[in-house]
Amino acid sequence: MKKYNFNPGPSILPKEVIEATAAACLDFQGSGLSLMETSHRAKNFQPVVDEAVALFKELLDIPEGYSVIFLGGGASLQFCMVPYNLLEKKAAYLNTGVWATKAEKEAKLFGEVVEVASSKDKNFTYVPRDFEIPVDADYLHVTTNNTIYGTELLQDVDSPIPVVADMSSDIFSRPLDVSKYGIIYGGAQKNLSMAGVTFVIIKEDLLGKVSRQIPTMLDYRTHVKKGSMFNTPPVVPIYCALENLRWIKRQGGVKAMEKLAIERAKIIYDEIDRNKLFVGTAEVDSRSRMNLTFVMAPEYQELQDEFLAFASEKGMVGVKGHRDVGGFRASCYNAMSIEGCQALAACMKEFEAKH
Ligand SMILES: *Cc1c(COP(=O)(O)O)cnc(C)c1O
Repeated sequence: MKKYNFNPGPSILPKEVIEATAAACLDFQGSGLSLMETSHRAKNFQPVVDEAVALFKELLDIPEGYSVIFLGGGASLQFCMVPYNLLEKKAAYLNTGVWATKAEKEAKLFGEVVEVASSKDKNFTYVPRDFEIPVDADYLHVTTNNTIYGTELLQDVDSPIPVVADMSSDIFSRPLDVSKYGIIYGGAQKNLSMAGVTFVIIKEDLLGKVSRQIPTMLDYRTHVKKGSMFNTPPVVPIYCALENLRWIKRQGGVKAMEKLAIERAKIIYDEIDRNKLFVGTAEVDSRSRMNLTFVMAPEYQELQDEFLAFASEKGMVGVKGHRDVGGFRASCYNAMSIEGCQALAACMKEFEAKH
């Protein structure tokens, strides 16, 4: 039976990307060596990093003055690297969920943190829109897509101070105005690659302004200067990212990705709103296109496990919601097909007909 992968991360990748990465793992570009045994300093690996960086710049229309680097440690390491490198006195954080809260917690180790707004009062079911940004803070941190709660900030924030954005789960799903950001970072395993690499897009002139000493590996300048080759980078995940960036380009770039994301989300949200058994958890104007969260309607609570079993029988993988929200979550990253969303909607409809 055909499986539809709605996992929140690590998550679905285009079949072509998986095949090309698997082929490189067997024989990297006819070299007779596996990509896994290829040195990051090998002559045939440098072009992989160069092309991946070039495609980042091309697809996201990244202006001059920004670097793209690949690091280890996941998005979670960025929670501390950001304040380590940028926070001199004070930073502002928008709290929209678990990941945002974790980022904020790390920043408190380095200085004063102002929480500009929080949606914790309603279990993070919305993204606060009206908040004041302190002009004397070093940066404003936002999480553009809240993977767990299914909410998304779809507009680039206008801010008088640099914006630092965790875009782990919505990077490459829409065009961005990168000039409005100081740093954009994320773990690759949601919408870019397999797990194991972290991307950071960074405006170079923000660096070198804090007075503290920064350990070499945690200093962005090290990695900017060495083109992500200060130490051994994860070659296979970077190669997989490159194949996925090529795939995105072949599909028509981030505009095409956005169009598909809108279409996919509409199919599932329309079914959630139509179907008497289910209700969405996020406020409508904060709904994410990447992670679509829903629960059983109050009068049908007892059907939750039955629906999960039913969906699984129909080939739906990974639709169980995060424990903080419960219910269900359909993660619809770039590689998810329209057909997959139609299959999930049909499965919800069929389940309704049974009850
Ligand atoms: C998954 C996720 C993270 C954590 O990523 P790691 O790479 O596992 O550290 C952080 N932020 C967001 C928005 C996420 O979805």
